[in-house]
Amino acid sequence: MHSLWRDEAEVVQRQSLAGRIECDVAIVGGGYTGLWTAYYLLQLAPQLKIAIVEARHVGFGGSGRNGGWCSAFLPMSPSEMAAEHGPDAMRFMQDAMFSTVDEVGEVAARENIDCGFHKGGTITSASNEAHVERLKDYVGSWHEAGFGDGDLKWEAASELSSRIAVGKTLGGMYSPHCAAINPWQLVTGLACVLESRDVTIFENSPVKTIEPHLVTTTGGVLRAKWVVRAIEAYGSQMKPTRRSIVPLYSLMVATEPLPESVWQSLGWANRETFADGRNMVTYAQRTADGRIAFGGRGAPYHFGSRIADRYDQHEIIHRRLEQTLREIFPQVGDAKITHRWGGPVGAPRDWHAYANVDRDTGICAGGGYVGDGVALSNLVGRTLAHQIVDTGDSLTRSLLVNHQSRQWEPEPLRWLGVNSLLALTEFADRIERRTNRPMKRLLALRDRLLG
Ligand SMILES: Cc1cc2nc3c(=O)[nH]c(=O)nc-3n(C[C@H](O)[C@H](O)[C@H](O)COP(=O)(O)OP(=O)(O)OC[C@H]3O[C@@H](n4cnc5c(N)ncnc54)[C@H](O)[C@@H]3O)c2cc1C
Repeated sequence: MHSLWRDEAEVVQRQSLAGRIECDVAIVGGGYTGLWTAYYLLQLAPQLKIAIVEARHVGFGGSGRNGGWCSAFLPMSPSEMAAEHGPDAMRFMQDAMFSTVDEVGEVAARENIDCGFHKGGTITSASNEAHVERLKDYVGSWHEAGFGDGDLKWEAASELSSRIAVGKTLGGMYSPHCAAINPWQLVTGLACVLESRDVTIFENSPVKTIEPHLVTTTGGVLRAKWVVRAIEAYGSQMKPTRRSIVPLYSLMVATEPLPESVWQSLGWANRETFADGRNMVTYAQRTADGRIAFGGRGAPYHFGSRIADRYDQHEIIHRRLEQTLREIFPQVGDAKITHRWGGPVGAPRDWHAYANVDRDTGICAGGGYVGDGVALSNLVGRTLAHQIVDTGDSLTRSLLVNHQSRQWEPEPLRWLGVNSLLALTEFADRIERRTNRPMKRLLALRDRLLG
């Protein structure tokens, strides 16, 4: 089943790569990272000849089927970034992310990409005392890092309920730094903008090898000064990057459009993106056409980092997501679930995103978003473009630049480790629900295993 977002009427068929083609920049992957890189390269150096080569079709990966959170929050927390890179580098990065959310909205408006961009902020709601303690600690850690209530604040239950009347809340976090989008419209709209500027996009052309100045598919080759690897979770399927990233499945469901009476009772007038305070990631948005799209992690990691279309469906996790959705938003009643889908997000070993350019080989790479790539891929694409054109912009010195994560463990350790982390997270949530106390020690153990 396709995602909610994919509009069959907007599916454009593109040519496959055949023969030998020369260009300045060859980009592998037709998702946000690849497309944003091309977009900013053309802004900085309009004369560049750029080709994009995509295994399936534009937006086939997470970029076409995500939860539509265009969020300034990173997979790395401010304290983690400050510990590794220093407080100034952390502040630069986080401020850059705040403005990146607006940048996505501004480009969409300027280029007439109708992706329903709406910046209503984001809420994480605490539904038990354990969530309250953890979320308050989290807000406190942001304030200690120098951010104020204007960036992230705690809201009492009454305030939060006046935004969205969730079934049960004890309060929660609110930040203005997030917009809701339709991901498919953003990725396909961006591709059309690029084509109107003479970027060539090849589809159904899986790349077999990426070498210095050379990209090879079964049908042809691209020779280029620069080659950009922008395949995120799918890097795990190519030999040289097999252990640099693991594919973690994130799954989603969507309701049918809900009647006005439900929206009257739910509120949610400002379309904030919504998460529940549990440890296992959940995420929701009120869509532009009046549905709730609701997602979460928890699906198993597949041995050998396998990715397959059939893994996008998981009976148990999809059922669990549906139950959680109805529990959090009881007003939904017995509204139909019309869509169930999912896909892999890419997790590097240290949860750290990167925008890497090797000037000797011409090989560049961007990714490592752990499910936070909608806004971050814009910043990564922009950072790659500035490095390739060698503008000397401050972006070229950010903590994303030339970051190397260590490799994931070989199998079967990887399978055991990743699935144990998922199980521990699930277990911690179950105990927290029962005891109302945050499972700090268990979660610290999980984080130590990860570290
Ligand atoms: C269900 C789900 C929900 C998510 N929700 C959110 C969210 O709400 N907010 C958020 O910030 N992030 C979210 N994400 C993550 C986000 O979608 C990704 O981080 C982002 O789209 C990554 O963009 P990308 O271009 O780097 O990779 P992708 O979009 O995965 O694009 C990579 C492309 O490379 C192609 N490719 C792979 N191998 C090859 C090859 N050998 N040759 C040629 N092409 C190849 C793929 O077909 C794919 O189209 C979600 C992801 C999923 C799956």
